[in-house]
Amino acid sequence: MTQEHASRPLEVACPQCRKKVAWIEDNLHRPFCSQRCKLLDLGAWADESHRIAGEPAMDETEIDEMIMRAERGQE
Ligand SMILES: [Zn+2]
Repeated sequence: MTQEHASRPLEVACPQCRKKVAWIEDNLHRPFCSQRCKLLDLGAWADESHRIAGEPAMDETEIDEMIMRAERGQE
């Protein structure tokens, strides 16, 4: 029996630059594509403390849900 690797990795868009990011454990900066984007985003939030509270790009609960769904193979 061949051991197939769990399908293709889930991809998310980097909240900072919109680059596709593979949601894998190796990517310590997910959902950002890099530490640079992660810091830029955090910096933006710190700078704009008065930023209008709109919808956050995606909160962790949603991401968890997406992953669970992807793992069960129902996208
Ligand atoms: Zn990025």
